[in-house]
Amino acid sequence: MELFKDFYFLQVEKTGFVDSSSFLAIRDDNGIICIDVGGGGEENIARTVGLLEKNDLNIADIHTVIISHTHADHMGAIAWFLSKQGNIKVITHEADARYLRDNTKLNHIFESDITEKYFPENKFDVIAFYQAFCPISEATEDRTVVEGDTLNCGDYSFEVIHTPGHHPGHISLYEPNVKALFVGDMAGLEVPFYNVRAGGIEGMISTMHKYQKLDIDIIIPSHGELVRNPMEIVETTLSKLKKREERLIAALSNIPVTFKELLPVLFRHEALYVFPGVGILRAHLEKLKKEGTVVEENQGYRLA
Ligand SMILES: [Zn+2]
Ligand SMILES: [Zn+2]
Repeated sequence: MELFKDFYFLQVEKTGFVDSSSFLAIRDDNGIICIDVGGGGEENIARTVGLLEKNDLNIADIHTVIISHTHADHMGAIAWFLSKQGNIKVITHEADARYLRDNTKLNHIFESDITEKYFPENKFDVIAFYQAFCPISEATEDRTVVEGDTLNCGDYSFEVIHTPGHHPGHISLYEPNVKALFVGDMAGLEVPFYNVRAGGIEGMISTMHKYQKLDIDIIIPSHGELVRNPMEIVETTLSKLKKREERLIAALSNIPVTFKELLPVLFRHEALYVFPGVGILRAHLEKLKKEGTVVEENQGYRLA
């Protein structure tokens, strides 16, 4: 849909566990700028192309792609787009360029090594994980951005906001004239996955605080519907994070409990323990340790 003049929100419906992301396309005098391009793989690319065609947006006119973060559902299709239009300029946050160039580095961010410590029988490889739903691909960045940079896209001027927690180089884009905020995965259908190496709960909370300072009419998420009550979703995210922490504290006492024994406190289904369980639980425990609420000893955790 054309959300504002020459500013398209191309929404991908949710169908599975990891869906190709929705994305934006903006027309300028030189052609089209895309913000994310969706996931790789035939099916995802067909959906992305279908959405562009439906809105009379020609792939040959795309001259720039801005990547919100280097997760497969947002940029897996990048190599395919570059194969169709080799002159596309790719822009990413400076902390994400290394993952764009080399996908295998994502395993460090997804804490595969730590997950393997707890579940040696369930090796978690993020590339293999993505392959089943939403294949990833690589590219070389033409420009990197950081917090406070401005990205001019036709009639629109986006302020880059660095929003880690879910991924180290995740960015949100704020357009003050139309009061629109593109949040990527940081707000929308559900609270995203977060872990220590991606920026932790501290990143999640500081991101929500950054959003609270903005004058926003509409939030554009990568997954789910447009959000017309922006501050409500920000507060809901903060309160969900707080509730998880409270549940964890309630489950702890002065007798140490092992990490694996704490997983069911946050996750009802065993299928979620390996991913996203380990990363999210560790993020909470590390925050509580830093704050002096929790102590780690004898391979367990207890209240201080
Ligand atoms: Zn993501
Ligand atoms: Zn996503």
